Amino acid sequence: MRGEIVYRKVEVLRWKQLLLFLSAFLFASAAFLILWFYVGEFYQYTVFSVAAFILNAMGYSEAQISAVNLTRAYLANFNLVPLIALAVTTPRIAWMKRVKMLAIGFPVLFSLHVLDIIAHFPMYFHDSEFARMIVYSLGVAGVAAPFIIWFALTHDDLSYLLSEEVRKYSCPICGAEMRGEDFLKHIKEAHGKKALKSKKVKDFIRKHPEMQRRRL
Ligand SMILES: [Zn+2]
Repeated sequence: MRGEIVYRKVEVLRWKQLLLFLSAFLFASAAFLILWFYVGEFYQYTVFSVAAFILNAMGYSEAQISAVNLTRAYLANFNLVPLIALAVTTPRIAWMKRVKMLAIGFPVLFSLHVLDIIAHFPMYFHDSEFARMIVYSLGVAGVAAPFIIWFALTHDDLSYLLSEEVRKYSCPICGAEMRGEDFLKHIKEAHGKKALKSKKVKDFIRKHPEMQRRRL
């Protein structure tokens, strides 16, 4: 319809954004993984200390705890890497949401890492099937957890990422579609300077007051 606002989905922009996000995520993950080689050992030491404290309370001896020393298995906790990478690289989300993602995700993953170590003990010392099930489930849950936390917090923002809607106007004279910022230029170039004073254009600008501001 001539002189109306039309909405168009711009697929190219949408895919471009998705690809940009994906490459930013992969690049950030690689960078954080390198960092993890240095930080991971200290993190795993902290996780193991908390787990040892709980295992002591559960009745396992110091000798048993140090026999199953998992302090060096820090690469198993790499799922903190995608969590941080997602918090940093997801486009168009509020900074508070990024902070929230880490504030929720970090304790959740930390608890899973502690639980993972604890579950290894009844599995080794009592051949517990239940503990084995927990250890195997945590292997899967550990990979999925950062993405579940990310999706839970950002699914409403993701609709922006998946469909970019661009507001366009159709020319009141010829019906050609254009963005608002190109409107006056189009009238001048396609229909002549006189067309700017025409009734059709004046009516259009009155109907879309945001165009008035562009003129000033
Ligand atoms: Zn036109």
